[in-house]
Amino acid sequence: MPLPQTLSRWSREDTQVQDSAFRRNLQVLGVAAWALVALNVLHVLVFGLLRFDDPVRSAWAQQIAWGHGVMALLMCGAGVLARWCRARRVDGGALRFLPECVSVLVVAWAVALTVMDQAISRSISPFVNAVVGVAIVFLLRPRSALVILVAGWCALAWALGLTTDDRALLATNRMNAASACVLALLVSVLLWRHFAQAELLQRALAESNRKLELQRAELEKLATRDPLTGLLNRREFVRQAEQELARARRLGGSLALLMVDLDHFKAVNDHFGHPAGDEVLRHVSGLMAQAVRGTDLLARFGGEEFVLLLPDTPADHALHLADKLRQRLAGTPVAVLGAPVTASIGLACPPAGCAVALDDLLRHADLALYQAKRAGRNRTVAAEVPVLAAVLPSGGHAVETESE
Ligand code: GH3
Ligand code: MG
Ligand code: MG
Repeated sequence: MPLPQTLSRWSREDTQVQDSAFRRNLQVLGVAAWALVALNVLHVLVFGLLRFDDPVRSAWAQQIAWGHGVMALLMCGAGVLARWCRARRVDGGALRFLPECVSVLVVAWAVALTVMDQAISRSISPFVNAVVGVAIVFLLRPRSALVILVAGWCALAWALGLTTDDRALLATNRMNAASACVLALLVSVLLWRHFAQAELLQRALAESNRKLELQRAELEKLATRDPLTGLLNRREFVRQAEQELARARRLGGSLALLMVDLDHFKAVNDHFGHPAGDEVLRHVSGLMAQAVRGTDLLARFGGEEFVLLLPDTPADHALHLADKLRQRLAGTPVAVLGAPVTASIGLACPPAGCAVALDDLLRHADLALYQAKRAGRNRTVAAEVPVLAAVLPSGGHAVETESE
């Protein structure tokens, strides 16, 4: 890729990751500031206690001790500020530039120390240490690093010029400082690019994981739910109902199964159209879903047929709930029809703890449903498995108990 395009891509990526870089810099500053404070205090002790007969060296030691003392105070402030920013989750305003400001401070302080050092030595190691240290410790955007390093070098080159007339010495120190700045810039850019790529890769991974999770949830929904009503589909109902039956068998609990079939639903489709019929199915499933417990299994079993498995529910409670459901349906108009629809319900209740197969339970509920249809619809018929037990008419009271 040509250089201008590469640089413009980098610049876009830099902008995307600068928030994360800021948080990472705060974290590092929270530790690095105190490390620098410890180093400053050590210097203050060493240079503060040094005594020389030579007034130049004495003044130099005092200046170095003061320089480190002032820096220790400033770094304490930076460390406290970094912790405060992290605790308050600051990610805007002027404090965004705290890492850059600390970098500038460290480089400026190193320039001052280097100039002070010229009184007794020709070394520029404080400057070299500072620029390389800043490049390693902080994640700086390449353009910020460039500005800080160029400004630092210019300041040092100018200040060194004030300390010596030896042009050879001046040239070598300036060029050594320039080399250190180039090295620091290289390190800084490499670390920044590495961070930016890792961060963007991590985000892409998190995003693709999120999409995968959504797709998995969607697939699971497609595999287990009826798309029209959102209720369990037949296959999932059978799977979960088998588990409930096994549990009831093991623990000796009671359960009941309801089969609900809408009355004359074909006529609804014929008069109002198929979309209206679909709306009725959604209305009915919504009403039933509201009326049952979270542990009950409610499914669309066929076209306009629903099944409801009630775990831990004795026969009389199940009969009561079935008839409550039936009455609620009959009493709630469907918006699209302007009138309610009715349903017939067949109820099967196996004796508590008895081993009964789901197919048998469904067969008995279906039989009871058939009886409810034959008895005139809009009613509940309860069948104890394997014995038919009760018939409730549209009025909702038991009027008949049959036994085989
Ligand atoms: P009954 O009282 O005896 O149950 O009469 P019914 O008309 O409800 O019974 P039948 O089984 O004859 O009709 C069921 C109708 O349900 C036929 C079919 O068109 C309709 N149906 C099945 N699935 C859907 C669906 O997904 N949407 C709509 N709108 N109608 C459906
Ligand atoms: Mg029907
Ligand atoms: Mg039917």
